Amino acid sequence: MSLLGSGIFKGMAVTLKNFVGSYFDKERLTTKEYAWRTNDKLPEKAGDYPKEEAEQLSDTTTVTHYSRNFPMLLHDQGEPMDTVRCVACQICERECPPQCIYIEKSTDKKERSGNKAQFYPAKFDIDVSVCMSCQICVEVCPFDAIVMNSQFELSTPDRFGGLLLRRDDLLKSNDYYHKIHPEEAAARDKRIADEKAAKEAKKKAAEAAKKKAAEAKAKAEAEAKAKEEAEAANKPTETSEIPSAEPPATSSTQPEKEESAE
Ligand code: SF4
Ligand code: SF4
Repeated sequence: MSLLGSGIFKGMAVTLKNFVGSYFDKERLTTKEYAWRTNDKLPEKAGDYPKEEAEQLSDTTTVTHYSRNFPMLLHDQGEPMDTVRCVACQICERECPPQCIYIEKSTDKKERSGNKAQFYPAKFDIDVSVCMSCQICVEVCPFDAIVMNSQFELSTPDRFGGLLLRRDDLLKSNDYYHKIHPEEAAARDKRIADEKAAKEAKKKAAEAAKKKAAEAKAKAEAEAKAKEEAEAANKPTETSEIPSAEPPATSSTQPEKEESAE
């Protein structure tokens, strides 16, 4: 049984050993993982990280399927900017607690993946030196356009420009998302497909109801018109019904009046 807290002292002992040893052995100046390097450069991308060349990590290497690091922007099959899901609504920008997202909405709209024309992000930057990986941007996005990446090797000697990820650095395909988070991506795709099917069914039902209402209206109008026509046909004509109020003029009336005046 080890004493509580003994691990801390063991770790400190290793650190002390390396600290003192670094004055005598140059190898101890660098972290073991990077010791294979001959050019003394820090790693710049995932492929630079492994201890041995044979252990090269691919872009889709992930710690676990549930790990997350910084956000990325999803696009569907095809050219990234032709299929990017983000419509630059800026909700994530407003909701990000440390305000590390910067978006510029396009001035024009374009049609993507057969959907109606929408705005797109002319600029979309995330300062990952500020991002706290809270995933709030993912939660609030109504378009399933932003999800968490799990790429973990982002160390760079350029602490400002190197940690400001631009739109094109953030764009990743849905296939990539399936590789790093298979369960989450499959669940998201299923939900999107279900929502789309429900929306289409609702649209079809609304169209059917509208068509039915229009047919009923047309039928009612036709019936009313037929009734009107039938009534008009049965109505007697004015000349045969109303007798003339004027008595017929006689040629003897005028001379009679003249005689009585005399
Ligand atoms: S993960 Fe959190 S901190 Fe990082 S960009 Fe998204 S909302 Fe902002
Ligand atoms: S990522 Fe989502 S929430 Fe953020 S601007 Fe794009 S569509 Fe809107």
